[in-house]
Amino acid sequence: MHIVSIMAHQDDEMRCLGTMLKCRDRGDQLAFVTVTDGSLGFVQNPTIRREDAAAIRHAEMSALCAAIDAEFINLGERDEFLYDTPDVRMRLIEAIRRTRADLIFTHYHEDYNADHVTVNSLVRHCAMQAALPVIATESAPLISPPAVFLVEPLGPFTFPATHYVDISGYHDQKVALLKHHASQDEALFLALGSGFERLCTRLESYRGEQVGCEYAEAFTPMQARGAIKAYSVLP
Ligand SMILES: [Zn+2]
Repeated sequence: MHIVSIMAHQDDEMRCLGTMLKCRDRGDQLAFVTVTDGSLGFVQNPTIRREDAAAIRHAEMSALCAAIDAEFINLGERDEFLYDTPDVRMRLIEAIRRTRADLIFTHYHEDYNADHVTVNSLVRHCAMQAALPVIATESAPLISPPAVFLVEPLGPFTFPATHYVDISGYHDQKVALLKHHASQDEALFLALGSGFERLCTRLESYRGEQVGCEYAEAFTPMQARGAIKAYSVLP
């Protein structure tokens, strides 16, 4: 299968990366799509030029993807000012088709960040439209809409976890991969007092405790027509 993370920013894959690594071990192809350029993620350097910041975020995400032979598509919209426009929709439909997505991970619809919420809405539309032949893009339409699973938001939101994946054997690799986002590890420490390692370990331990393993990632399917497959897609 083709497993695609579609997130607003370069590092938002932190809530599904362990599961994606597990998918990779069963023979799946991985792809990562980021919708914005991540150029406002530098609390540690607020005066950095937007293009310099975007280049760093792009390089960090590219290195992570290269380490696991995954495709990376960066739509490069303006960070923190993402809007649902015809152009963005068409480019996201094309990205979903190009990656031949069978399973998409994206943001939950309640979140502290407006870009995350906008990406959730974009995926709801574009995942369905990617299978519609009446909308033409460079790549052929998908045979059927992909399954869409939502990741846990960062912050005090009630998340109705329904699907758990035991990632105990992938936690260390996941944290090591996330360290490719060195600029964001630094920014997270400044903003929250915790970097990737603690952010992942705390939540994955809690979710693991709920289902009887050391570390787990939790998801809930996107409620939309055709988005929930009748068969299991998670590893
Ligand atoms: Zn984000």
